[in-house]
Amino acid sequence: MKTPQTISDRSWTILNLLKWTTTYFKTHAIDNPRSTAEVLLSHALRLQRIDLYLQFDRPMHADELKIFKALIKRRLAREPVAYITGTREFWSLDFQVTRDVLIPRPETECLVETSLEIMSDQADACALNILELGTGSGAVTVALASQQSRHHYFASDISVKALAVARMNGIAHEQTAIHFFAADWLSSVKKTGARFNLILSNPPYIPRPEISGLQPEIHRYEPHQALDGKTDGLGCLQEIIDTAPDCLVPGGFLLLEIGYGQKDQIAKIVGHKGCYDQITFIKDYSGIHRNDRLRKAVG
Ligand code: GLN
Repeated sequence: MKTPQTISDRSWTILNLLKWTTTYFKTHAIDNPRSTAEVLLSHALRLQRIDLYLQFDRPMHADELKIFKALIKRRLAREPVAYITGTREFWSLDFQVTRDVLIPRPETECLVETSLEIMSDQADACALNILELGTGSGAVTVALASQQSRHHYFASDISVKALAVARMNGIAHEQTAIHFFAADWLSSVKKTGARFNLILSNPPYIPRPEISGLQPEIHRYEPHQALDGKTDGLGCLQEIIDTAPDCLVPGGFLLLEIGYGQKDQIAKIVGHKGCYDQITFIKDYSGIHRNDRLRKAVG
């Protein structure tokens, strides 16, 4: 079998290089081998993916081959494609990502959809105050602000490196009014006396003992701080559920992304808390309960 070393032994066109790389990825059990080969090759050549198809017979230069070979090696070491290219699409927008932030997941679009529903139900004439906790790349808040620009958006993260990425994404999508700030969940927000109509979060919710068993793309490369939900996965969710009522207006909503199989335990935590008067679980497109929507009691 050929290895990346033998890639330089012959003259290559875009087409035969794509074919070779697809087979190579397949034999190394890399997901989506053809599309991965296309994304990495277009990144190496600084072309749009569609342009590869228009230039199938184009010969590769030695320096291009060298760059591409380095990308193949990174993917073979299980680095996620999004970190290699530095971008990921979410809500049909391109976001910059680095290893300081979790790569936005398709199922997290559910958080955007449900937030938009809550916002449209609540919106009379006034602009709403919306806070995202643990914003990471900023993808969720930037997506919301680009859909509904008239509201006031705040987004926090404990990681200043993540905030730098989120701010870049805000600027890239012309959402410069979003107020990004460093905070540990709601501890400092509570002291300001600020009250929000909607607080949303995709907090870390993986049980700590399960992290090392996740696929290498996740546990070797993504920030554990953004995944680690403490011993049972519920640590951060519980903290947010406990403290959010202090920072919500009466009738305001807390919206959380939750992990597979966490619904019943969350319902129990919310029941004990007793200051929410509505609790709704929303399924994602795979049929998994993915969002928990809680309303702070009005009375
Ligand atoms: N959904 C992510 C995963 O399955 C976890 C994100 C999180 O902990 N909030 O890897």
